[in-house]
Amino acid sequence: MRRPLIAGNWKMNLTREESVSLASELCRADSSNTDILICPPYVYLDAVSQAVAGSSINVGSQDAYFEASGAFTGEISVGMLKDIGCQFIILGHSERRHVLGESDLLINKKVHAVLSGDLTPIVCVGETLEEREAGKTLDVIKSQFDGSLAGLTADQIKKTVIAYEPVWAIGTGKTATPEQAQEVHADLRRILAERYNPETSEEVRILYGGSVKPDNTAELMAQADIDGALVGGASLQSDSFIDIINASGVSAG
Ligand code: PEP
Repeated sequence: MRRPLIAGNWKMNLTREESVSLASELCRADSSNTDILICPPYVYLDAVSQAVAGSSINVGSQDAYFEASGAFTGEISVGMLKDIGCQFIILGHSERRHVLGESDLLINKKVHAVLSGDLTPIVCVGETLEEREAGKTLDVIKSQFDGSLAGLTADQIKKTVIAYEPVWAIGTGKTATPEQAQEVHADLRRILAERYNPETSEEVRILYGGSVKPDNTAELMAQADIDGALVGGASLQSDSFIDIINASGVSAG
């Protein structure tokens, strides 16, 4: 049985004061049926980690660099993130792929670094609207899967979380229908079974991301292969994020 994970990606939003206050408010969320994760900007990670200390909320970062240390101006290593209490690291988010030009090769190096550091990578894949309309969704997903997750052992893939985030649904208010999302999640599960084996495939958590809101969570989570959500906009307010957590736990139970 895969335990749901609801992850909030705060992106480049909020002040230090707002971050600490949101993190503190989230400590009242019920984590009995759901793992909860928040990913603030790097500069607030330490303060947010302290604000949720002693609660069941996990803290993660929105990226990491693959080298351990050295002359890499502006970058942050996995070890540094571990040092300040991160357990998860989002990698290959579509904004990093499309705005910052990250390749599958770079993302793959980061995935290996995160797993070597004993943290959990959340690896994002997803097609653009143009790719979907050209009927290329499955090809894009397969190619991002094979590129970003190359060289992982079965044990490593089991420790990895995959997030399916159709680019056309991120921050646009356009959610994939539960059926559209489930179709790709089932494809991902099939790819996992082909590249590894059916037993391994059943253990990997696959999150959906793209305009997840309190009122569409239960329907998405009711799909057989959707194990949680990666939430952007709706994770910036405690009420909506807690409503999403509650809706995910109910449907999972
Ligand atoms: C995201 O940031 O990964 C995301 C899915 O954003 P939103 O929920 O705002 O669409």
